Amino acid sequence: MKTLTIIVQDNQVYIDGIPRAVDCSKLTFYALQWDAMASAGHIEYAPARCPTCNCINKKPNEPVNDVTPYQAYIAAWATAPNPGEPNNAS
Ligand SMILES: [Zn+2]
Repeated sequence: MKTLTIIVQDNQVYIDGIPRAVDCSKLTFYALQWDAMASAGHIEYAPARCPTCNCINKKPNEPVNDVTPYQAYIAAWATAPNPGEPNNAS
C-alpha cells in the first residue's frame, strides 16, 4: 500500500487510488489522506456553517503520523466486494 484515502461521507476507502465501499459511519471527519511511503498524512474537516453568525467555518487539517487507528478500514477494504476488478489486494 502506498496511499490510503478515506472519504467518510461517501463511505469510500481508496488504497493506491482504488475505491471500495466501506462503512465509515464511526468517523467524524471529512477525509483522511495517508502516504505510507512518507509515513505522513492528515485529516481534513468539512466546512460547516457557524450557528451564531452564519459564517463558514473550517477546522484546519490535522497532521497524522500513525495509521494504526485506521487499520480496520484497510482490512475492510481488502475484503470489500469489488465487482469487475481482479482480487489482487495486497
Ligand atoms: Zn461565525
